Amino acid sequence: AKASGRGTYRQFAPGMDAHLRAKQEMKIELRRALERGELELFYQPLINLGTKQITTCEALVRWRHPDKGLISPVEFISLAEETGLIIPLGEWTLRQACREAAKWPPHISVAVNLSPLQFRNRKLSALVADSLREAGLDPSRLQLEITESVLLDESDNNLHILQEIRQVGAKIAMDDFGTGYSSLSYLRTFPFDKIKVDREFISDLPTGKESLAIVRAVAGIGRSLGITTTVEGVETQTQLDAVNAEGFDEAQGYLFARPLSAEQVFEVIKARR
Ligand code: C2E
Ligand code: CA
Ligand code: CA
Ligand code: CA
Repeated sequence: AKASGRGTYRQFAPGMDAHLRAKQEMKIELRRALERGELELFYQPLINLGTKQITTCEALVRWRHPDKGLISPVEFISLAEETGLIIPLGEWTLRQACREAAKWPPHISVAVNLSPLQFRNRKLSALVADSLREAGLDPSRLQLEITESVLLDESDNNLHILQEIRQVGAKIAMDDFGTGYSSLSYLRTFPFDKIKVDREFISDLPTGKESLAIVRAVAGIGRSLGITTTVEGVETQTQLDAVNAEGFDEAQGYLFARPLSAEQVFEVIKARR
């Protein structure tokens, strides 16, 4: 049996296995981490492949745990989603990313990942508008990265929220393109500003025949629809060559830069101007 519920402290049912127990422990700690300001945003540059300039930096959350050190979002985002903590976490991330981006030169945008669960908050577009206003950031400099699961929603509610966000002036990117079932059909549902091909298709370039075919098709679709095309996870020069050959607009990956602390990314931006 599971522990009795939210906010309970160390009341683990007897016999609960170690894995569940560790998870329960982490939920409690994550809630505290939010209150204590242990979350931190790192920023990873996206490079325009024509000009080689930084166009955008993607905000990627980290948890600076007092004992365990820096914890990856892979280890706590789904937990935050399960517990509902993704709502305050997502709000903090959005506000913090806008504040940071306001310090950068105006040609550089910031990208923020949105969880599908944040769309349950009917006031999401108001939060976006407020974050921009509070930071004094031009709305066109904010890109919101969503996955197709946002549009999987049966009702038109999420679509409506996306349209509201668009009206605020922010840009919408489809993240992890190709990993879902219907990425293609969702391009018809909403006019995305950007497509980001998931790094699983980049990792086996240029030899992976299937990946190459998919990457090539996405570049073509982006071109014909006038959508900015980006790839993530570029680690090697041969991968970059393959991506360049297909005519992608932008790339992101360890070959250019790892996710950097706010201070580090600011230095990189200054140095590259
Ligand atoms: P994502 O949105 O697909 O972000 C890209 C991930 O790929 C990041 O992992 C980034 O560090 C990693 N990456 C970038 N370049 C390379 C590369 O060349 N090679 C390899 N192997 N990896 C690369 P990260 O920072 O661990 O984030 C993982 C995921 O957690 C993100 O995947 C995103 O879905 C989620 N996430 C991160 N921050 C937030 C946030 O603030 N809110 C929400 N809702 N989700 C977030
Ligand atoms: Ca992303
Ligand atoms: Ca993602
Ligand atoms: Ca991805």
